[in-house]
Amino acid sequence: MKLLKTKAIVIKKTRISEGDAIVTVFTESSGKLRFWAKGLYFFRNKYHGMFESGACVFLTYSERGTQGLCFFNSCEIVDPFKGIWGELQRMFAAFYFLELVDSWLKESDANPSVFHLLHGSLSLLEGAGSYETLVRVFELRMLALTGYSPKLDACVLCGKGPGKSCLCFNFEKGGIICSHCSDGKAAGPKVSPGALAFAAKGIAISGRHIERLKIPRGLAQEVEILSHHFLVSRLGKKLKSYRFLEL
Ligand SMILES: [Zn+2]
Repeated sequence: MKLLKTKAIVIKKTRISEGDAIVTVFTESSGKLRFWAKGLYFFRNKYHGMFESGACVFLTYSERGTQGLCFFNSCEIVDPFKGIWGELQRMFAAFYFLELVDSWLKESDANPSVFHLLHGSLSLLEGAGSYETLVRVFELRMLALTGYSPKLDACVLCGKGPGKSCLCFNFEKGGIICSHCSDGKAAGPKVSPGALAFAAKGIAISGRHIERLKIPRGLAQEVEILSHHFLVSRLGKKLKSYRFLEL
């Protein structure tokens, strides 16, 4: 059987017996996959403690068997991101990133850009003072890299630019609606030009520049509408780890 090698980030492990686990990872080259780790919970197992959530590993495996599970061969730690796990809010943010990737992407949906986003965000999380910008940019980049960016530069109905007034954000249409088109009716929550400008920057920014961004004062809730609430509306379900985040 042909062996495949890739970097992977551990999303979760599920215990299925006294010693065994099903491990879900997000790989750089082949997207999300699951494998059966036999005897993982036994202390003498070489890989015991290696598949902690959020750890980046170098994985050798072979293709799926009949149950959709890959065959695990070997693994070594690349980066355990230990700095995340000593502080509760950092930890919850990491769990949120992992749950989002797990929920948003289907198995084998390869997306190396999302892998680099996740890897870069976990790395930034280790040293981040504030997590709010990091969380919002992660959500906005995730939408962008999977083809679901909200339309923020023009009204989704008439194509007119946003100007300087507050506009409605419509979840169903996935973008802003101008006052003329909404015609006084509630087409969605109001968003100001400042929140739209931040979200547009968040969508376009590359990893190493994230720390330069800051959510404008007083606009945190509007930014949350354009990033988190829009994402949840597309996903069709809430994410469990989000309620633990104090943003
Ligand atoms: Zn319009």
